[in-house]
This record gives sequence, structure tokens and C-alpha cells, in this order.
Amino acid sequence: ARKPLVAGNWKMHGLASSAPEFVQMVGAYPAIKDKVDLMVFPPATLLTSFATATRGAGVIVGAQDCHPEASGAFTGDISAEMVRDAGGGAVIVGHSERRSDHRETDQLIRAKAKAALRASLVGVVCVGETEDERKGGQALAVVGRQLAGSLPDESSPETIVVAYEPVWAIGTGLTPTVDEVAEMHRFIRDELARRFGDAGRAFRVLYGGSVKPGNAVELLAVEDVDGALVGGASLKADSFLAIARAA
Ligand code: 13P
Repeated sequence: ARKPLVAGNWKMHGLASSAPEFVQMVGAYPAIKDKVDLMVFPPATLLTSFATATRGAGVIVGAQDCHPEASGAFTGDISAEMVRDAGGGAVIVGHSERRSDHRETDQLIRAKAKAALRASLVGVVCVGETEDERKGGQALAVVGRQLAGSLPDESSPETIVVAYEPVWAIGTGLTPTVDEVAEMHRFIRDELARRFGDAGRAFRVLYGGSVKPGNAVELLAVEDVDGALVGGASLKADSFLAIARAA
């Protein structure tokens, strides 16, 4: 059975003064640790201090992006090795905000996911269709293409997590219906099994996009949904922990 994973993507939110929220998450985690894995992806500026704060408690901290190379003349970028060095255990790659705001391609995202594997980080690889693509009946085709292009051949259930985040559900308060989520997650599961054989059944596939305490139970109960990637509701310990408890 796949252990659920609830991950919080803080995006460009959080200052040193946000530490107490994270410390509260860390403090509450032992009580639910057997049931759910917890990851928090703060901005890179907070990675080291959060890694120190979680030491021993089991909450994994990670970065929201990494460069494919280990080091080099890439001003402003951070490598997977640096994330690991800062105490990180995971990295998000291919978030839709990176795909659109920074024109990231599947090929680049695959290289970043490979960097995560090289640095012994768990790579959380994001996929998801836009509103126009869903309206045009292209949701499955788009996600299938993103999966095929973004996942390295070396992916394993221990090292790679897939996050399905429909772009139109991110930060909008809109979510797909339970049937739409079930259809997409079944499709992703089948694609993983087709490519990776039996191992494909063991990958965790998260749902992301407007997950809140009020809809978490329903979304997390859907077949083949193995957890959530949470944006806004992950900034506060109370809402993030409520979602984690729903897993
Ligand atoms: P929201 O939960 O704020 O919709 O964001 C989802 C997301 O993009 C997480 O990566």
C-alpha cells in the first residue's frame, strides 16, 4: 500500500517570522507520522533554518525548483546538490508557475528531475492541463505528454512523486469533480504502469489545486489519489495539519 504524502508548497511566501508556523507543524507531526508523510517546500531563503527546525521530527523540507547542473555560472539558480547540502530532502520540479512564468519545457523538467535523483532528493514532478485544454477535451492527452516528457527513465516509486495540478484549479478555489480527479489519476496510474511495469503501481500521485481542510477528505478519498500538494492552505499550521489528518 502507498503511504499518503501531504506536501506544502509555500511558493514566494514566508519570512523568518514565519518560523513559528513551521515549528507548530513539526511539533504536531509525531502524532500522525505513522499515517502520513509530510513535506514542506519553503522559499530557498528559509530552507536551512527549517531543516534545522525539523531535525529528528521527520518532516521533510525541500526546494521549489533546482537547476539541472550541480554547479556553474548560472546566476540566481540553485542546484539539487545545494538543496541537499542545505538539509533538503526533496525538490519540486515542473510546477505550472515555472512552466508558464519561466517557459520551462518537459525536456528541462526531466533534466531537473534527473538532478534530483543524482543528489538523492525526492523529485516531485508536476503535471496538469490548462482550462482551455480541459475545455477542448485535451486534458488526458496533455498530461500524458507531460508525464512522458518530464519523468526520467530512472524514476522509481521511492525517488519520484507525481503531482497532478490542473492549472485552472490553482489558487482559484475551483476544483475538478471527484469523477474528474478519479479519471485523471486512473489515467496517470495506467501510464506509470505501462512505462515502469509493476513499479508504476507503487508511485505516489498527489492531487493539487485549491485543496483546503473543507474538501480534503473528499479529494484524498479518491482512488489513486495518494496525497495532496497544497499551496495557500499550507502556510498556516492549523489548515495544513487539518489536511494532513484527512489523508
Ligand atoms: P493552491 O493550493 O493555493 O491552489 O496551490 C496549489 C499549488 O500550486 C501547489 O503547488
